Amino acid sequence: MSDLRTHAAEIAEQFSDHLDVDEDDVEERLQNLVDEYRVPVDEARRSVVNSYLDEAGLERDELGRGGAEETLLADIDQDEQWVDVTAKVVDLWEPRSDSISQVGLLGDESGTLKFVSFKTSELPELDEGSVYHLGNVVTDEYQGNFSVKLNRTTSIEELDEDIEVGDDDVTVEGALVDIQSGSGLIKRCPEEGCTRVLQNGRCNEHGNVEGEFDLRIKGVLDDGEEVHDIIFNKEMTEELTGITLEEAKQMAMDALDTTIVVDEMRDDLVGVYYRVTGPTFGRYVLADETERLTGPADAESVLIKARSI
Ligand SMILES: [Zn+2]
Repeated sequence: MSDLRTHAAEIAEQFSDHLDVDEDDVEERLQNLVDEYRVPVDEARRSVVNSYLDEAGLERDELGRGGAEETLLADIDQDEQWVDVTAKVVDLWEPRSDSISQVGLLGDESGTLKFVSFKTSELPELDEGSVYHLGNVVTDEYQGNFSVKLNRTTSIEELDEDIEVGDDDVTVEGALVDIQSGSGLIKRCPEEGCTRVLQNGRCNEHGNVEGEFDLRIKGVLDDGEEVHDIIFNKEMTEELTGITLEEAKQMAMDALDTTIVVDEMRDDLVGVYYRVTGPTFGRYVLADETERLTGPADAESVLIKARSI
């Protein structure tokens, strides 16, 4: 049923500029061909499309494909674009909202991208590890991060192939020149799905809450040409500083002040050279791997800088 509904929605969408096509009518016509005449779905679809083409006085190639174009995930850099993608389901996450049926990560040779599928779209579920051609998905942008939304008009075709998912990690090298506020021992909102960092015990969304301690560093790495904003999560921060979350809590308790933690971290880390690798999130590099370098990675740029002082 929902399969035919998807086809019907796609057809209605294709003709939306030319005819007043009602999804229910399309579905009924498809249903009739499939149920009464045992026509395969693909053929039924072709037949129904042809009849609407006749009605509209159009040739097939005048119809186009609803504007959707086959796109690599890494090339998606605009909001509200209708695209087709061929991708592997790399990861599925627990949806945080009742309206979402699936949320996860798609991957192709160019990299990875988040996808969301809503319950109202009534789409079949995607399996982790499988490769699909997804027709007519719409791009979305939130704080510089792109994702794709599956929708009622999205066609899903499972492909019998594998994709070597590309790596969109970046590596930056340079001196850690600053540690920004919101680093060190922080408190996060405990509300489910929130995790916002509290400012003076307040969450922007949920007001005053009993926060949960976490460690994080928002650092600025200068590679000699430009600066990169890096986020080190708890594990990375512990590795980088040798201070565990428990130790940080103890330090703060002894000093009756949480800022002692970031002060100590700043003393240890600023001025040290690092090589950091990880995915990007907006303007941030999320450190997955961090290596402490003994000296400037690029002696030339340091020399240039030294001369300019
Ligand atoms: Zn919150």
